[in-house]
Amino acid sequence: MTRNSEMLQVLRRKIPAFTCEPGCHDCCGPVTASSEEMARLPIRTDAEHAAALAAWSCPHLGPDGCRVYAERPLICRLFGTTPGLPCPRGKCPEVMIDPRIERRIHRYLEQTRQVLV
Ligand code: SF4
Ligand code: SF4
Repeated sequence: MTRNSEMLQVLRRKIPAFTCEPGCHDCCGPVTASSEEMARLPIRTDAEHAAALAAWSCPHLGPDGCRVYAERPLICRLFGTTPGLPCPRGKCPEVMIDPRIERRIHRYLEQTRQVLV
C-alpha cells in the first residue's frame, strides 16, 4: 500500500457519516479526485464524461443515486460534514468533522494531483 493510499483510508475513516434525504443527490456535480481515488472508480467513456459535464453532473450519478458510493471521493464524503460545505437540505452528522481532520483533508487534496472524476 502506498503512503497516499494509506492516508486516503485514514482520512476516509475519520469523516463522520450521516444519512442523506432518500433519493437526494443535490450536492452531486463535477468533482475532482486524486489518482489514488480515480484508480478505485470504474472507467467511464469519453462520451459519458462529456454528457455528465454538459449537464453539470457526475458520470457516476445514476437514476438511484451514486453508483460508486463505497468508493466516492473525499470531497463527496466531506460534503455536509463541515460548515464550509453545508448540505442545502440541512442534513449533517451528529458531530461535525474535527477541524484538524478537515485541514488534513485539504492538505491531501493540495498535495495530490486532482483530476475531474
Ligand atoms: S448531503 Fe444533502 S444535498 Fe447532498 S445528497 Fe445528502 S441530503 Fe442531498
Ligand atoms: S462520485 Fe458519487 S457522490 Fe460523488 S459527485 Fe459523483 S455521484 Fe455524487
